[in-house]
Amino acid sequence: MDVTVTIDGKQAQVPAGSTVLDAIRRLDIHLPQLCKDPDRPPLGACRTCLVQIEGVRGTPASCSTPARDGMVVHTDSEEVVRIRRGVLELTLGMLTADGNGKTGFGELTEAARRHGLETSSYQPHHHFETDDSKSFFVLDRNSCIMCGRCTDGCDQVQHIGAISLMGKGHDSKVGVFGDGLMSSSICTSCGQCVATCPTQALRVKEKQLPIVKQVDTTCPYCGVGCGINLKVRDDGRISVMADDAPKNLSSLGMLCVKGRFGTGYIHHNERITTPLIKRDGQWQEASWDEALDLVATKFAERRGRFGALASAKGTNEEGYVIQKFVRAVMGTNNIDHCTRLCHSPSVEAMLAQLGSGATSNSYIDYEEAGCLMVIGSDTTSNHPVVAARLRKAVVKNGAKLIVVNPRRIDLCDYADIWIRQLPGTDVALFNGLAHIILKEGLWNPEFVEKRTEGFDEWRKVVESYRPERVSQITGVPVADLERAARIYAKPPHGGSCLIWGMGVTQHINGTANANSILNLALLTGQLGKPASGVSPLRGQNNVQGCGDAGCIPNAFPGYQSADSLSVQMKFAQAWGAPMPERSGLVVTEMVQAIDNGDMTAMYIVGENPLLSEPDLNHAKEAIDKLEFLVVQDLFMNETAEIADVFLPAASFAEKDGTFTNSERRVQPVRAAIPPVGQSRPDWEITREIARRTLQKLGREPKGFDFAGPSEIFDEMASLWPSIAGINYQRLERDGGIQYPCPTPDHPGTRFLYEKDFPRGNGRFILVEQGPQAAELPDKRFSLILNTGRILYHWHGGTITTHVDGLVQLAPELEVSMNPADAARFEISDGERVRVRSRRGELTAVARLTEKMRQGEVFVPFVKLQGSAANFLTNSAFDPDSKIPEFKVCAVRVEKLSDVSGREKMLARSRRSSEEPAPVHGP
Ligand code: SF4
Repeated sequence: MDVTVTIDGKQAQVPAGSTVLDAIRRLDIHLPQLCKDPDRPPLGACRTCLVQIEGVRGTPASCSTPARDGMVVHTDSEEVVRIRRGVLELTLGMLTADGNGKTGFGELTEAARRHGLETSSYQPHHHFETDDSKSFFVLDRNSCIMCGRCTDGCDQVQHIGAISLMGKGHDSKVGVFGDGLMSSSICTSCGQCVATCPTQALRVKEKQLPIVKQVDTTCPYCGVGCGINLKVRDDGRISVMADDAPKNLSSLGMLCVKGRFGTGYIHHNERITTPLIKRDGQWQEASWDEALDLVATKFAERRGRFGALASAKGTNEEGYVIQKFVRAVMGTNNIDHCTRLCHSPSVEAMLAQLGSGATSNSYIDYEEAGCLMVIGSDTTSNHPVVAARLRKAVVKNGAKLIVVNPRRIDLCDYADIWIRQLPGTDVALFNGLAHIILKEGLWNPEFVEKRTEGFDEWRKVVESYRPERVSQITGVPVADLERAARIYAKPPHGGSCLIWGMGVTQHINGTANANSILNLALLTGQLGKPASGVSPLRGQNNVQGCGDAGCIPNAFPGYQSADSLSVQMKFAQAWGAPMPERSGLVVTEMVQAIDNGDMTAMYIVGENPLLSEPDLNHAKEAIDKLEFLVVQDLFMNETAEIADVFLPAASFAEKDGTFTNSERRVQPVRAAIPPVGQSRPDWEITREIARRTLQKLGREPKGFDFAGPSEIFDEMASLWPSIAGINYQRLERDGGIQYPCPTPDHPGTRFLYEKDFPRGNGRFILVEQGPQAAELPDKRFSLILNTGRILYHWHGGTITTHVDGLVQLAPELEVSMNPADAARFEISDGERVRVRSRRGELTAVARLTEKMRQGEVFVPFVKLQGSAANFLTNSAFDPDSKIPEFKVCAVRVEKLSDVSGREKMLARSRRSSEEPAPVHGP
């Protein structure tokens, strides 16, 4: 119900429960509101939004006064303006005139100006040094009015709690624990505080220029899919601060450091913005015509011996066009993308057990759940805004958090139980949890009976996973197993969510691990209802959409099987060309095919296999054998360096399209600036290659005459019923929509499987604990290497190493190790060390931390200063999904000074001639 309030003679209607300030805003009346973030509850700290209300004593703060029907409010009476002016003068008096007089304090300066104030007769009794220890922004306490917006954002929005109001009287200030520099705190540089500060006390370091345009779009980094607002400066460049866009229902106004500040790469001077052709081993600039013609000629000559990698950073439309080119023009299903290296086991398992490869639920389900089990995911580093929503679930809503991870991650600070299993023992762990749930009668017989199949055979296997045996295999105490099983099966409220990352999938047991997790959800019926579900957190921004669009070798768009005759006929008819009859090769098999001479040409878009593949030395030897390689990207990278043609692509800020995030939300991507230099959007480049290749093949250049991304999306939607109800007009009007959305009037789908599974019944898949890993430590390589991402860099770092502020935050490759191991090798914290495996080596800085278990070390994926974890990793892979085992291999760490002359010589060859390690396991 609405209430009507009269303000300065005008009437405003606002919903019951609104404040007087909400009503004032409805009428666009200017009123200072320094401590009130428009998206947060009132703090009532600054007293600058004072008003007069007829029949009410004094001048209450409008931000915290409820609006009542019939209220008569004055914002501009002589008395209230006089009092407010006094408050503003006192507030202004808290700040130190710093060169500009009492100006340059953002919203405060504007409010003071409107009240005829340029200076104050009061002066502060303090002076603080500016804290510029963070790379993107400063904390200038001399401009701070202690309103508390920044600490509220840090504490109540991001649930980090890095900063707080501290001290007394004139010494009061915003500070961090221990009163040190911001850089010494747990601050993650998410910038929530900077975005909300009303006085520029927290402000970006970049010189501020007038903003001429603002565009709402979607973050280009991880699969969370946060909304960002790109600000275009009057010099045509994107401002460093991509402010939040609270309209986005995935991020609700939150961003992490990369989304908020990580757009500097768009204008980096190392960006390639002209087509390049390699002649006599040298790159030479070329016209688009020349480059595209060469590419089409060479591709046409190599039809049938061709493969392509699509970009999970590109839009859905770009994914659709490239897979259509590969299938309809090049006549092969050899198309893959980085899902192979992250969640292919999850997709394989979910397709087999549930019939869909997508996350079943939404982030809102995490917030409403009573139990969150986070498995093999350092969410705080990889999916920071999801981590904030998990923290909210725990801190605000009382959810129980179970962290399953061999490494002590930041989420452990919030966990009720931390299960620290031995690497590679997940199947035993989840079979063991299922065993306890069955034994204690905590399962859901009705769900199992009505909605699943294969239970009896599976149950027989699980019976042998007694807690004592599981404890022995996994190293997890029986009591922890029992507590975790009970909480997951019977959460204190709502349902339970299983959320996992690549710690589950990047193993030789990757698909079995995912199977064992899904079995647990089927046993307890913890899916198909609100506040429950199964969620593989997707890595890159559009890895979900890239798979959806058909950039996988075994499925057309919408996961329609590439081996099904009826599906082949459907697409042959739609695209006017015969379709390949068999599934194609996954990326790891492509490397093998190149090695064997079966594949001679490749088209690689926005991927860098010579950084992302395991055992990089071997991968390079293979890819070097290609007769013709085309790389399409923003920057020169390891793969591009050995290419024949480089095609310069536009960044996300220079094109329209859609991304689909981890919760199946199709979201708009909007161009804020024109393509830099001669770069072009990926869809446009692929369209041109397709048309020219068709001509070289003597065929009509039909089927690739898309005028823009909206037409491409419409064609994709006409072939995949789950998105048939989505189009650009709806996205413009409604924002992101979660599929399935089969009709234009369908609202989208928050969670899947309410009534049934796409495959009919959910299927239990029987899995046994296999070998722990393909390679485990021995005398020579005595440590287990674990790999993963870090907050300040994205995956291999091709983009984030071109953002100066991110490089400042994480400039060097670090190897994290337990102090006891370090002592064993006489290594001290901060020392440069060499890490070696049977396949290669790298140098890094040793970081000693109790977060690592003895015997295990961690190196991030990112390539910094020439060193990358994948020189070490093992190419052994999971037989079902073909994902390599990035998460476990055997290494040794040595002081740089320990490397003898002979070893140095061997190291230069980058490959060791040592025998392969035996397979180990429980
Ligand atoms: Fe971007 Fe992911 Fe950070 Fe959100 S959490 S701002 S999507 S990188």
